[in-house]
Amino acid sequence: MNIIDFKARAEELLPEGANYDACLACGLCASGCPASGFDGMDPRRFIRMAMLGMNEELSTTPWVWTCTQCQRCAQVCPMNIDVSVLVGVARSAWPKDKKPKGIVRSCEAQMRFEGTSAMGLQTEDFVEIIEETAEEIREDSVQFKSLQAPMNKKGAHFFVNQNSREPATEPEELGPLWKIFDYVGADWTYASKGWAAENFCMFTGDDDSWEKMVKQRVDAVNELGCDVWLNTECGHSFYTLWKGVERFNLQANFEPDSLVTYYAKWIREGKLPVNSDWNRQGLKFTLQDPCQLVRKSIGDPAADDLRYVTRKLVGDENFIDMQPCRSANYCCGGGGGFLQAGMNEQRRAYGKRKFDQIQTTEADYVLTPCHNCHSQIEDIGGHFGGNYRVVHLWTLICLSLGILGENERKYLGPDLAKIGLAGDNE
Ligand code: SF4
Ligand code: SF4
Ligand code: SF4
Repeated sequence: MNIIDFKARAEELLPEGANYDACLACGLCASGCPASGFDGMDPRRFIRMAMLGMNEELSTTPWVWTCTQCQRCAQVCPMNIDVSVLVGVARSAWPKDKKPKGIVRSCEAQMRFEGTSAMGLQTEDFVEIIEETAEEIREDSVQFKSLQAPMNKKGAHFFVNQNSREPATEPEELGPLWKIFDYVGADWTYASKGWAAENFCMFTGDDDSWEKMVKQRVDAVNELGCDVWLNTECGHSFYTLWKGVERFNLQANFEPDSLVTYYAKWIREGKLPVNSDWNRQGLKFTLQDPCQLVRKSIGDPAADDLRYVTRKLVGDENFIDMQPCRSANYCCGGGGGFLQAGMNEQRRAYGKRKFDQIQTTEADYVLTPCHNCHSQIEDIGGHFGGNYRVVHLWTLICLSLGILGENERKYLGPDLAKIGLAGDNE
């Protein structure tokens, strides 16, 4: 194990106005951290040990793989101290063969092919899947008989990234997203290079791989001359690119933006005329603010957009916020590579706080515009006996517009599965 001088590294990495020595030992960070107590560690203790020079302990504690780097501790710290930065440094100290294998494998898969898919899906297979899926949509629906999923379209306005989970395991979930683009007349494209959204290299603590991955994607967008790198419903991919461009001083000739921002914009402009008429049963919905998108990247404007979209979709009276929420929200426990790390017991113990938050809302559905949140919240729901379902925004948008195909309803329960289909006469 490479032993790191944490105090020296902390001083190098200080954000403006922060001073690690100024830690008040107030414990605010620890009280709001769902990873507090695992392996006898918490963020307050981590900082104190760093200041005391306990470098060997910090370079070897497995706790760093249970911290999701969600930055909730930094958000509440009166001294602007960010423990997650030091956790990243500690992860880098681990020899590769001792790091959680799932995270390392995902990063290696991304580095192997030009598409940068963490699931190892190669571009030729991706192209075949999207062509087949688009063809099925054209055949099934007169309204979308001209629908396209373009590849390598030079000068398209949006360069759209795609979490590999859909093409690799549930291609029918691609349809709602493309239908929304078609509906608003978006000028968009996928690309052979750098099409995948996910980025686990950052979570390995290996900055060189993170930089290489981001550079590959930035080059791909620059090459096609697109104006906006549009991040779909995936939290960490936004942060890894947005933060990576700044951290590695890369030349990005485009703006990174989130699909959530565009959903809200298109609804405000009347291009997506959604309403909540479909919610005849008054089903209740709550919302998970992805830390990577809200607290760590765009901030509360993204939380505002999420609520605007959700309220329009489900009806004001049917939306119940978790407490705390927005930038103060708790991580669900799927972040930082935790879902891939194989530490299921700790991951679920971390997620218990999220589960309790959700149960308190008594919501029937949780909306999660992030794949990691989606998987984790489903998993803890099953594990702790919750009776909620987890759904993407694109599903509800298409349901509301009456354009959700029969095979695009995987995440809807029996209460919604038939809405808008033939025979739904209520
Ligand atoms: S919240 Fe900040 S000041 Fe308080 S114990 Fe944590 S790191 Fe120290
Ligand atoms: S980043 Fe999140 S998980 Fe890590 S110490 Fe801070 S609050 Fe806890
Ligand atoms: S999994 Fe979701 S809640 Fe957790 S850090 Fe990632 S974005 Fe945040």
